[in-house]
Amino acid sequence: MSLRLYNTLTRQKEPFEPLDPKNVRMYVCGPTVYDFAHIGNARPVIVFDVLFRLLREIYGKEHVTYVRNITDVDDKINARAAERYPDLAPEIGIRKLTEETAAQFHKDIAALGVLEPTVEPRATEHIVEMVALCNQLVAKGHAYVAADHVLFDVSSMADYGRLSNRSLEEMEAGARVEVAPYKKGPMDFVLWKPSKPGEPAWPSPAGIAAPGRPGWHIECSAMAGKHLGEVFDIHGGGIDLAFPHHENEIAQSRCAHGTDVMARVWMHNGFLQVEGEKMSKSLGNFITINELLETKKFGANQWHGRVVRFAMLGTHYRQPIDWTVDRLVQARATLFDLSFLHGAPVADAPHPEVVAALSDDLNTPSAISIIHGLAKSAHRNADTAAVLKATLQFMGLYGNETQAELNPGHEVRAIDASKVEPLIVARLAARRRKDFKESDRIRDELAAMGVVLKDAKNKETGEIETTWEIAR
Ligand code: AMP
Ligand code: ZN
Repeated sequence: MSLRLYNTLTRQKEPFEPLDPKNVRMYVCGPTVYDFAHIGNARPVIVFDVLFRLLREIYGKEHVTYVRNITDVDDKINARAAERYPDLAPEIGIRKLTEETAAQFHKDIAALGVLEPTVEPRATEHIVEMVALCNQLVAKGHAYVAADHVLFDVSSMADYGRLSNRSLEEMEAGARVEVAPYKKGPMDFVLWKPSKPGEPAWPSPAGIAAPGRPGWHIECSAMAGKHLGEVFDIHGGGIDLAFPHHENEIAQSRCAHGTDVMARVWMHNGFLQVEGEKMSKSLGNFITINELLETKKFGANQWHGRVVRFAMLGTHYRQPIDWTVDRLVQARATLFDLSFLHGAPVADAPHPEVVAALSDDLNTPSAISIIHGLAKSAHRNADTAAVLKATLQFMGLYGNETQAELNPGHEVRAIDASKVEPLIVARLAARRRKDFKESDRIRDELAAMGVVLKDAKNKETGEIETTWEIAR
């Protein structure tokens, strides 16, 4: 199976060749744990989970290492901890907040059918590695100390800006924010900074006496280096991270290790949007994963995680996705229709066409349309049903849920089928004698019982046949 992935670094789809097929290595930037994750944050988690599953399918489960970090040192974390736990010592409040938020994140994404990564490193557990990187960068002349900060000197790197395809001159011209006086160049960025009172603090690198804390970008360089090595296969995240975060990760890692690349392939998912705007905490237009799953805030409905995942994968990961109620309604209807697979046996492997679609730069819309096609014939063919079930499980889209489970928060009405069938027969009889008043009356009577009718013409006999289902 030949895998092709779009590489932000080269701006093209390329055949994927792992450095070591016995250990395919991927790093994805994880959440900053200060608050509930929103459904936009769930996009990279789901997208790279699909890639993780695909890599395991192609190279073997034990031959893939997936690292997704947790950022637990950040200004927003400090502020939120002080607000929520004003009576606790800062480090205790911070630990409590980050542990609670990480636990909530794990609960949310497990409901979305996301597998655990191989390693989930925390920034605060990699301070020693960050300090070492800072020291290496200073020693090699790529970083300098000023006002108790360690700063990366972007002018020391010939091709800074390659990932985001911008030259240093362009960036400097566009730098509008006020530049701190201690910086040599306006694009130089912080590797380490002094801690203010009440902030977490660690012994500083580069001979700085004052205790300090890491900048944002250095943590991913440290964690990726520790768990995946100096050069690895794939690095992912949302497109908003390409600049400055990923650009700066690359600068730090490459200059510290003297390598040509940090990761060979850089992948970025597009935005999840609401009414054309990126969903984000700062714009206030967000809905959390937890709210979608456990409240009726979105479309006056509670949504099952499997439905949310299906809805997310209906759009290719590089395209923007508009988050609408309609999308969820359609995904739910598809999963309802697939519940006929309960009790069916499962094949050993997913359908090769679906694996091929995903191998073409994770073409999930194409994979889903193949699934729709398989579903049609699976009704009549047990082998197809078994392969379909294996395919859905492989993509994390199947978990044996009943229709009632896929539609949480709705009362399931107990309907006495023995009363429904005679009414349907009576209605069809009324229609045949053109007594539409009576046939409509029976339809309404059934609707009041919570039964929805579907009429279809039998192609062979030409007769109208009626099926029914429970109203959703
Ligand atoms: P953050 O916690 O803000 O660093 O974001 C965690 C991950 O979610 C990053 O990979 C972001 O790129 C991604 N992300 C944030 N907002 C969105 C969005 N609206 N659509 C898609 N990805 C997003
Ligand atoms: Zn990162």
